Amino acid sequence: MNVHDSERLSGLLEAAGYVRAGGGEPDVVVFNTCAVRENADNRLYGNLGHLRPVKDGHPGMQIAVGGCLAQKDRDTIVKRAPWVDVVFGTHNIGSLPTLLERARVQSEAQVEIEESLVTFPSTLPTRRESPYAAWVSISVGCNNTCTFCIVPSLRGKEKDRRPGEILAEVEALVAEGALEITLLGQNVNAYGSGFGALAAAPDDVRAMTEGGQSAFAGLLRACGGVEGLERVRFTSPHPKDFTDDVIAAMAETPNVMPSLHMPLQAGSDAVLRAMRRSYRQDRYLGIIEKVREAMPDAAITTDIIVGFPGETEADFEETLHVVREARFASAFTFQYSKRPGTPAATMDGQLPKQVVQERYERLIALQEEISWAENKKQLGRTLEVLVAEGEGRKDVATRRLSGRAPDNRLVHFGVPDEPVRPGDMVTVEVTYAAPHHLVADKPVLDVRRTRAGDAWEARQGGRDGQKGVSLGMPAIGRPAQADAPASGCSAAP
Ligand code: SF4
Repeated sequence: MNVHDSERLSGLLEAAGYVRAGGGEPDVVVFNTCAVRENADNRLYGNLGHLRPVKDGHPGMQIAVGGCLAQKDRDTIVKRAPWVDVVFGTHNIGSLPTLLERARVQSEAQVEIEESLVTFPSTLPTRRESPYAAWVSISVGCNNTCTFCIVPSLRGKEKDRRPGEILAEVEALVAEGALEITLLGQNVNAYGSGFGALAAAPDDVRAMTEGGQSAFAGLLRACGGVEGLERVRFTSPHPKDFTDDVIAAMAETPNVMPSLHMPLQAGSDAVLRAMRRSYRQDRYLGIIEKVREAMPDAAITTDIIVGFPGETEADFEETLHVVREARFASAFTFQYSKRPGTPAATMDGQLPKQVVQERYERLIALQEEISWAENKKQLGRTLEVLVAEGEGRKDVATRRLSGRAPDNRLVHFGVPDEPVRPGDMVTVEVTYAAPHHLVADKPVLDVRRTRAGDAWEARQGGRDGQKGVSLGMPAIGRPAQADAPASGCSAAP
C-alpha cells in the first residue's frame, strides 16, 4: 500500500509539472514513511540528517515528509529537523503540491495533518511504476485492533470503495495495457461491510452480493469478467473474515491466480488472543485445508511474529506446528519489537532479545526447509511466466530474465532467441529449485508478446516526462470522499 501511495505522490507531482530528477541533484525530496517497520523514526531522522548539508548547498531545495510516521509525529518532525519544508499525513496526500508551493511562497514550513480522509486516494493522479501489473485499492483503513499494530490509529477506520469505481479503474488499467491487478485492502475479506443495509445499497453493491455471496467474492468474480485481464491477485485477507465463498470465487474464476497471502502472526491461541486476532489455530488451518482442496496448486504465504509479549516456548511450538502443517511457500517473519502507541508495547512479559532471536532462527530454519521442499515439487512443471522488470538482481551476471509464475513464485529463465519485454508472457520448464526462487534453464518453450509488453515498450523514453501518469479515477455515484490510504495488513512490528 505504501508503494501504491508513492505512485500517487509521483503522479500528483508529475501532474503538477515536476519531472523526475534522474541522476541529478533533486529540487524536491519526498519521504513516504512507514511507522510499522522497526526503527522507522531512526531511519527517517538519519536520512533527514544526511540531507541537511545537501540542502544547504542547494538553495531552494525542498524536503517533504508524509505517510504514517508524519501522521504520528506531526510537528515534532519540523522541531527535530527544522530544515524540513512540508509535513503531510496519511489522510491528505493530495495536498502535497499545494503545500510545497505554499512553503516556497511563504518561506515557512507547512505542517498539515488531517484527522480523516480528504480525498479517496484512488481519485488522485497516479504514476504507475509498472505498465503490466497494477495496484487497485478496494478499501482503506482497518476496523481491527490488533494489539501490535499502529495502522488503525494512523490510517483510520475501514472505508470501502464502491465496486463500480473499482471495476472502472481495473478496466481503465487493462485498456492501458495492464495484464495483472492486485486488489489492495487492509482486510480485503471485510470489503463491503461499510456499505450498510443491502436493501438500501446502490445497484453496483447489490450486484456484488447477488445470491448472498460476500462482496469480496463478488468483486473477484466481477474481475473475472474484465476482458483482457489475465491475472488477479489480492492482499491481504484476514483469517477471521475469510469465507468459503471467497475460496470458491478464487477457484472458479480463471484469472484469479492460485496464490494466497494470509497473515498467521502466531500459531498459539493464547498469543492470538493477546494479539486481539479473533481467529484460532484450528480456524486458520481449516481455511488452508479448504484452499488446498479447491486449489491444489495454490502457493500460500504468510506473516509471522516471533516473541510477542508473554509468548512461551509452548506457544512458539504451536507456531512451528502451524508452519509444518500449512507448508507455506514462503513467510515474512518478524521479531516482535515494541511500537510506541500500541497496546502490546506496555504489556507484561516482554521477552529478552536472545530468546526472541533463538526462536526466530528456529522458525527461519524450518520455513526455509519447507520453502525449498515445496519449490522442489515444481521441478519439471511447465509454467507461464509474466516477464518482470527488476525482479532478478543477478540477471545480468547469470544472463537470465525473471518473472512471476501464476502462483507468484519468482522464476529466472534463460534469455530466449526472440526478443521479450517486461509484460510479455513466456512458457518455461522448471529445471532447478532454490528456497526462494525457481530456475528454468532449458530453452524457453513459447514467447507470447502482449499488450502489456507493447505498453512497456511505448513507455521507454517517457520516464522523465508526463507519460505514464493516469488521471485519477472519477468517483461514481458519490462525492470523492472516503477514507485514508492504508498500509498492508502484512503489518507486523
Ligand atoms: S495487523 Fe492488519 S488487521 Fe490487524 S489492526 Fe493492523 S492493519 Fe488491521
